[in-house]
Amino acid sequence: EAQAAEDKTFVIATDTTFAPFEFQDASGEYVGIDMELMKAIAEDQGFKIEIKPLGFNAAVQALEAKQVDGVIAGMSITDARKQTFDFSDPYFESGVVMAVAADSNIASYEDLKGKNVAVKTGTEGYTFAESIKAKYGFTTTVFEDSANMYQDVIAGNSVAAFEDYPVMAYAIEGQGLPLKLATEKEAGSSYGFAVAKNTNPELLAMFNAGLANLKANGKYQEIQEKYLGTST
Ligand code: GLN
Repeated sequence: EAQAAEDKTFVIATDTTFAPFEFQDASGEYVGIDMELMKAIAEDQGFKIEIKPLGFNAAVQALEAKQVDGVIAGMSITDARKQTFDFSDPYFESGVVMAVAADSNIASYEDLKGKNVAVKTGTEGYTFAESIKAKYGFTTTVFEDSANMYQDVIAGNSVAAFEDYPVMAYAIEGQGLPLKLATEKEAGSSYGFAVAKNTNPELLAMFNAGLANLKANGKYQEIQEKYLGTST
């Protein structure tokens, strides 16, 4: 007899720190847009979740190895990833931006010549930096998480970092990091919830149904406004 979806606990992997989507509050609890969205969808659809903050690249790899049921981690829906994963409907628009130290005079990719840039492994920002590094003549240092990537720029070891626009803007405006945005955001992919290809179709369907319900009843907007303010 098949187990009813509502009796099941789905294991959902996420990033360690990617505010305002997933991060620990003062008491160590994981909060953020992704965390609240996932919880609200589970509640709306009547299933249970266990959140595993593995780090972005580790979460994606765990999903590929089918060690977890899904990933919600500000994960961009890209054509390359669609070979390996099935994505939900998009739930947030993003795009990669270049950030530099607050007092830096680096203002374009041309200014990166002969310099070092911090990137985060397995991300769209990483892929973008790799795609332009030969053209603009810079080197890269790879980090496992966003916090260490930012610190490398603040410490002056790297002159820039490539990060998702909403996350970088939140770190600067919301958390006061001494960085600034140096470029317009590159046309980027939207975020989606992912399952391994042809796996957990019922979970994906429940995510989409729950997301539509939260959009219709105002809860989705409420969660966004809680973290981003009413301006978005
Ligand atoms: N949106 C980016 C990607 O999917 C970064 C995600 C993250 O660092 N959590 O590659």
